[in-house]
Amino acid sequence: MSDISELYQEVILDHNKSPRNFRKLEDANRKADGYNPLCGDQITVYLKMEDGVIKEVAFQGSGCAISKASASMMTASVKGKTEIEAEQMFDEVHKMLTGELNPKAGLEKMGKLAALSGVCNFPARVKCASLSWHTLRAALKGEQGLASTE
Ligand code: ZN
Repeated sequence: MSDISELYQEVILDHNKSPRNFRKLEDANRKADGYNPLCGDQITVYLKMEDGVIKEVAFQGSGCAISKASASMMTASVKGKTEIEAEQMFDEVHKMLTGELNPKAGLEKMGKLAALSGVCNFPARVKCASLSWHTLRAALKGEQGLASTE
């Protein structure tokens, strides 16, 4: 195992053990639920939007380590970003998880999110890692109902 993947592993374990923004956001003005039937991961994403900017973001849910760590990293990454920036991040993350991102140039700008890049080698786990992002997008779009990875 390379140093890089060990580092990534640490990031995932850390976010799984002490997830960031893991709470209900009482004054959220957008909210969406997500479900990954393949693994049983469930998540609710709360957003407080102000003038197109994500002022606050939080999540609740239960699921595997990957889904929880990914959700935690997602909230830490999109806080303070505009809706458009968050959409762009979604695209980048999606590319990374499906292995379409240029590993060198692309991963560098992903920052800590790159910790999830190894997931693309485990197709069954891709949906665990992308669930929080799908749910974020549903919340941004104000879609009602359940976001699913299917
Ligand atoms: Zn999962």
